Amino acid sequence: MKLSEIIKRTFITRKCIICGELISYDEKEPFCEKCSELWENQVNIKCKRCSYDREYCMCLPDKVKSISHGVAVWSVFYDSSSKNQMNNIVYTIKRQGYRDSIDFCAGEIKKRLLYICNLHNIDPSEYEITYPSRKRSGISKYGFDHVKRLANALSAKLGIKSVRLFANSGKDDQKDLDKRERLKNAQKSYKIINAQYVSGKKFFLVDDVMTTGATLYACAKLLYENGAADVIPVTYAKDNF
Ligand SMILES: [Zn+2]
Ligand SMILES: [Zn+2]
Repeated sequence: MKLSEIIKRTFITRKCIICGELISYDEKEPFCEKCSELWENQVNIKCKRCSYDREYCMCLPDKVKSISHGVAVWSVFYDSSSKNQMNNIVYTIKRQGYRDSIDFCAGEIKKRLLYICNLHNIDPSEYEITYPSRKRSGISKYGFDHVKRLANALSAKLGIKSVRLFANSGKDDQKDLDKRERLKNAQKSYKIINAQYVSGKKFFLVDDVMTTGATLYACAKLLYENGAADVIPVTYAKDNF
């Protein structure tokens, strides 16, 4: 065994990204045995709107549809209305910034992205990745920008560039606002920081969760206003609205 491997195993604990139980370094996926089963079962969760499972659900919030003519990438259902344990994966990204969670979610997004691109005849190598940066107060509270980490992990997996194009001066938490307020808040929170870079380029706009689509819409609008050729929203989870 390599020295770095021994050090890692001795000093760094690895946790199941759903329940937090300690797990072995040899687990291929970041789950304990029990949660591994939960993960397998979540493919059977049905969309509350169209009643298809996630593989075939094409429902999107209207704001997201308007960005991309109905093309968007998301990997799993997120259930904001219940205490679904699968939501913990999202929390470990937002609050703890677990490497394992970020890497796992980026891998899930990659699979889904390649599938959707293939379905719509899109060449992913023509795109760059950008993301709605976390607001400053969030970065000082948690110590990191989870969206940037997710975008960079996806960038590494796909071999396409990730660029920071947004500043987020937002003060209110999107989750505390209703649909209308979310859009207003998102529109006043984000600004393009590198406008001349955008013109003529195509972007995957990466975020962790798609709820009303307000954040994705506000950022996509800014990209289009600055001459972007195409914007496709890409998230790990979609709220099962
Ligand atoms: Zn577990
Ligand atoms: Zn659906």
